[in-house]
Amino acid sequence: MIHDVGGPSAIVSLFSGNGGARQQAHGWICMSAEDTMIQDFKDRMKKQGFEGLKNEIILRELCAGCGACSAVCPRDIVEYGPDGLPRLKGGAECVPCGLCAIHCPRSFLDTEEVERSLFRGEKDELGYHIRILSARAKDPELQGSVQDGGVVSAILKHAFGDKSIDGAVVCLGDERFIGSPFLAKNWEDAKRASKSKYNLSPNLVALRQARQERLERLALVGLPCHLAAFRKLEFYGPKSVTQRVAFTVGIFCSENFCERLMAEFLPARGIDPLKITKLNIKGLFRVEAGGQLHEIPLPQMNSVVNPGCLPCRDFTAEFADISVGAVGSPDGWCTVIARTPTGDAILKSLLDEGALETGELTKPKTLRRMSLSKKKRGNLKLIEIMSREAALPFRSVELPAEEKGEEK
Ligand SMILES: Cc1cc2nc3c(=O)[nH]c(=O)nc-3n(C[C@H](O)[C@H](O)[C@H](O)COP(=O)(O)OP(=O)(O)OC[C@H]3O[C@@H](n4cnc5c(N)ncnc54)[C@H](O)[C@@H]3O)c2cc1C
Ligand code: SF4
Ligand code: SF4
Ligand code: SF4
Repeated sequence: MIHDVGGPSAIVSLFSGNGGARQQAHGWICMSAEDTMIQDFKDRMKKQGFEGLKNEIILRELCAGCGACSAVCPRDIVEYGPDGLPRLKGGAECVPCGLCAIHCPRSFLDTEEVERSLFRGEKDELGYHIRILSARAKDPELQGSVQDGGVVSAILKHAFGDKSIDGAVVCLGDERFIGSPFLAKNWEDAKRASKSKYNLSPNLVALRQARQERLERLALVGLPCHLAAFRKLEFYGPKSVTQRVAFTVGIFCSENFCERLMAEFLPARGIDPLKITKLNIKGLFRVEAGGQLHEIPLPQMNSVVNPGCLPCRDFTAEFADISVGAVGSPDGWCTVIARTPTGDAILKSLLDEGALETGELTKPKTLRRMSLSKKKRGNLKLIEIMSREAALPFRSVELPAEEKGEEK
């Protein structure tokens, strides 16, 4: 059994610490389930508590800001700072139980086992999928108020409408377009949370609120890291945290940014965050503010990328029931990937009811290329992390041929 962190897609091969046996793996913390290292890690975290999470994950710049550590904390003492990273609530005392670190998706995760439980068939560079198509919402209410083709919003509107959900975990933006986790309890709530926010939003914390408010059936909308965290919790974690989620909608993600984007980076370029009406990544970072369009080349934004995004290898939210993004489709449309029978049934239902218009996937090669290049970038970062973090539970890493830049 192979363990890893941060999402699917087997590309890195490691020699794990378990007697040096060679294993194919998916990520940067790789070990067999039987490996004493997992047990050692758990034992250490149970003694060190939040301090362990801080030292192993946060200070090593591995944190994706997913919200899982707060969602599982039995004392509810983990909050998120303006940087989107976890910290202890002021004055709170951690009586170490280790659950935050043990359930962090960036500590360990057996992706193969999780994938086996979720998917059927073969996987490729887009993960497992039943069907892929291009679509946009037909509903006039959604035109202009959504990010791309409005498929995520259409899914939520449909699910609230037929009462298949009574809540949705989404990301609501404030007046500066900074997003935070939000538990929508009806379509009007969910509609307010449409459009993309380019900061870490620990969406999984809203699962605690859903439990407290006794909501029964939720949709969880999230980036690939949210979905990896959710699946780890679903697979190994307390069922009370995950059992209310009826389906998951993943959104594509190339990278995300830290709080300096709004606090310094955009203001330094004459952009007032209070005037932003839309942010988008379309080859460039595009900011619509005060009636003007500003386009910033992505390489110029390296200084404000969240460091925990660099080792991330999942572009298309491969752990979702249904994934939605823009790449691959024309402007104003979404690329939709139904992965599980649940996701495919949702898509079928929207199509049968005429809620979606379908079109041609115009750039399938670009979609696959972007997915592969994110895996490659993430792998290279993993190698770098492994080479400097001697204390992490693995010994060496070797990239297969195609990862060294050779054509298959
Ligand atoms: C940080 C980030 C990076 C992205 N990078 C790419 C990319 O490189 N290529 C690409 O094709 N697509 C990317 N996307 C996805 C794209 O922007 C759209 O979300 C997607 O195409 C769905 O469009 P839609 O019209 O259906 O969205 P909508 O109907 O407007 O719904 C968007 C949903 O996303 C949720 N959401 C918004 N921001 C966040 C956030 N920060 N964290 C979690 N949930 C959030 C909202 O709550 C809403 O439910 C990215 C999105 C984000 C947030
Ligand atoms: S009490 Fe909360 S913060 Fe402390 S170790 Fe447990 S989960 Fe982590
Ligand atoms: S990746 Fe998620 S669970 Fe891990 S430390 Fe960051 S917010 Fe917490
Ligand atoms: S790149 Fe996107 S999916 Fe990956 S950790 Fe960053 S925000 Fe999450």
